[in-house]
Amino acid sequence: MSKLGLYVHIPFCRQKCLYCDFTSYVQAEHLFDAYTTALCQQIAEQGGMLCKPPVDTVYIGGGTPSILPLPFIEKILTSLTTKFSIQPAAEISMEANPGTVTKEQLTALKTLGINRLSFGVQSFDDKLLAAIGRIHRTADSLIAVEHAFAAGFTNISIDLMYGLPQQTYDGFASELKQAAALGTSHLSVYGLKLEEGTPLAAAFDNGQLTLPEEAAEEAMYDLMTDFLPKKGLLRYEISNFACQGKECRHNLKYWHYEPYLGFGCAAHSFFQGERISQVADVEDYIKKMLIGASTIAMRETLAQNVVMAEYVFLALRTTTGMDLEKFRQYFNIDFFSHFGVVFNKLRHQGLVSATPKQIWLTELGMKFGNIVFGSFLPD
Ligand code: SF4
Repeated sequence: MSKLGLYVHIPFCRQKCLYCDFTSYVQAEHLFDAYTTALCQQIAEQGGMLCKPPVDTVYIGGGTPSILPLPFIEKILTSLTTKFSIQPAAEISMEANPGTVTKEQLTALKTLGINRLSFGVQSFDDKLLAAIGRIHRTADSLIAVEHAFAAGFTNISIDLMYGLPQQTYDGFASELKQAAALGTSHLSVYGLKLEEGTPLAAAFDNGQLTLPEEAAEEAMYDLMTDFLPKKGLLRYEISNFACQGKECRHNLKYWHYEPYLGFGCAAHSFFQGERISQVADVEDYIKKMLIGASTIAMRETLAQNVVMAEYVFLALRTTTGMDLEKFRQYFNIDFFSHFGVVFNKLRHQGLVSATPKQIWLTELGMKFGNIVFGSFLPD
């Protein structure tokens, strides 16, 4: 069986970004202590129940984990290493907001065992950062990455966004150049999505916000897929680029349909064929842990045809695509005998390609991934 991945959710932020619909709370410092205690309790319970299983990836995400003071991070890591068998070569990632880190803090995180950092840079244009409500500015990102290198991190990722309000093609081109010049080994690039209920979506609906035209956004997408590989950042998933060997091993578990456990409010797990999510409300989560009540909000075993579709489209997100023999072994059925009609239609449209061993998305399929993924789902 694959070794486990562990996800730890830290649902606190200094300020809510205008596009964000993640579970995160601002001005919630008074909950740090109780939340860490609840998290460690959940970690201890699950690790104990599973008799300290082997783990090869840990991902501390959020929210903004970097606003949690070091003693809390240390407590969480101690809890993880006590209750799970974290392998010596495990990838241990933490997300950080460039506006919230110091050199001393990054050095201390390295000493605690964090070996991969993911900075939410989003843009190298201060005007754009302000327009989407980020608390940091370009200078913070540059210095945060510099400090991370100085602290000894060799596995650093940055997130960038395109399709932002007021963003131009030329502006994005220069941001990509700046990102590549930083020398980090991993880059995630996402298009802005207007999520319902966010201030940015409301401003757009009220006509107070204009976004780049679809053609301009598509040109930005094309530029990123063309430019980054030339700089040694190879595409390995729709939105992710890395130097060889620096792909995010934790995220690869999601796409390879491998098991992971999620700790904290709103965290998700995929384990023994079940999908489980924790209650989203942070105070509810703390209270339930405190009184020994279940923190599970949803638990489901997916129908076999949904599992098969998920398995296929998650694998297709990666540039290596899906191994047909692995599919056969997993489901005890030939891929083409189940999905042949759908696949051939997509191949005819130029969205997918195949060899006798592998199927994958073409460049066009990568661009219109959602059309492909929807095609595999049962009606
Ligand atoms: S820092 Fe991240 S999680 Fe926090 S509000 Fe901004 S986008 Fe959301």
